[in-house]
Amino acid sequence: MLMRFLADELNKLQGQNLLRKTRCFDGPQSPYTTIEGKRCLLLSSNNYLGLTEHPEVKEAAKREIDRWGSGAGGARLTTGGYALQETFEKEIATFKKTAAALLFSSGYAANLGIIQALTGNEDLIISDRLNHASIVDGARLSKAKVKVYKHGDTVHLEEILKESSGYRRRLIVTDGVFSMDGDLAPLPRIVDLAKRYNAMLMVDDAHGTGVFGRDGTGSVGHFGLEGKIQIQMGTLSKALGSAGAYVAGSESLINYLKNKARSFIFSTAPTPGAIGAARAALKIIQNNPGLRERLWENVRYLRCGLDRLGYKVPAHESPIIPVFIGDAGKTMVLAKELQNEGVFAPGIRPPTVPRGMSRIRVTVMATHTSADLDCALLAFKRAGKKIGVL
Ligand SMILES: *Cc1c(COP(=O)(O)O)cnc(C)c1O
Repeated sequence: MLMRFLADELNKLQGQNLLRKTRCFDGPQSPYTTIEGKRCLLLSSNNYLGLTEHPEVKEAAKREIDRWGSGAGGARLTTGGYALQETFEKEIATFKKTAAALLFSSGYAANLGIIQALTGNEDLIISDRLNHASIVDGARLSKAKVKVYKHGDTVHLEEILKESSGYRRRLIVTDGVFSMDGDLAPLPRIVDLAKRYNAMLMVDDAHGTGVFGRDGTGSVGHFGLEGKIQIQMGTLSKALGSAGAYVAGSESLINYLKNKARSFIFSTAPTPGAIGAARAALKIIQNNPGLRERLWENVRYLRCGLDRLGYKVPAHESPIIPVFIGDAGKTMVLAKELQNEGVFAPGIRPPTVPRGMSRIRVTVMATHTSADLDCALLAFKRAGKKIGVL
């Protein structure tokens, strides 16, 4: 039964050209790494500031393992609570300018837990079309009614708010920085609407934290909206170079989630090593604005260069640069050709993005040199000419 079912499903995926396989890197997430035996320039990592490789970050992880051990030993409401978690939660709250914060084992788990705890079958979740899959799954788990608004379209969002006054509670939820397009949510307008229509507001700043805003406080800081967003979620797994996630907000939000968020209650917190690394990364982000400046210089250089070559890139600046090709087949051929040229930047196709919107998703790091970026541009030029997209 099982074997038959699995073989059928896998064959079906293969037939649709949608069978995916995990990629095996044989090195760290640094500007150059080894992928499937070949040295490649890495243009795909969420390690925006290069902090997974920072000596202080690695040292801090080792130090906390020596102090606390390799694992937490249990979920925090039972046996796995330790002082390092609380210290770091206070630091996150200070960084995000909120009263309190709570750690989760991953961003995926955080979104499931937060959304499921805040909404139920009498409530409405209003979600941006391009929100991350973990938000979509959290909304499903909550049993709340879900309405999706067109990407970044606050007119559509307001229409939904106007028509939905009958629900017990309403939750607006959006990525701060969208993971496939790299653009920012129109947060100032969304904050106004949430207030006017008395809805709860949650922002997932997985890609914003450490990258956008004064002091790297994220999309919320970028728009100067500190104190105006009730539920701020973020991850330790991207610019912070570690693993795990957090939510920042009021004391009562955090106390409520400790009691009601099932992915907090029934799951072990990030390990001491992961917290140690993320804490050190957060300190570096706060004390070294130069690192973020280098990232943004690289963003401008590469975006401009791709534009000049004739590729279709968005007008906005972001470390996530989608290079639009359109056709899924051509996109995958270009990705392959780039890899032959020694550049790793993945092709993204449906169902991750809508049909006709396939693209190469390029991400830049602060640790890329301008010579690295010149290499990338040369590879894009040669590969694009060779397969006829330029
Ligand atoms: C990566 C990501 C997550 C999931 O975070 P993990 O720590 O990898 O589980 C959630 N939301 C957004 C917007 C993301 O980009």
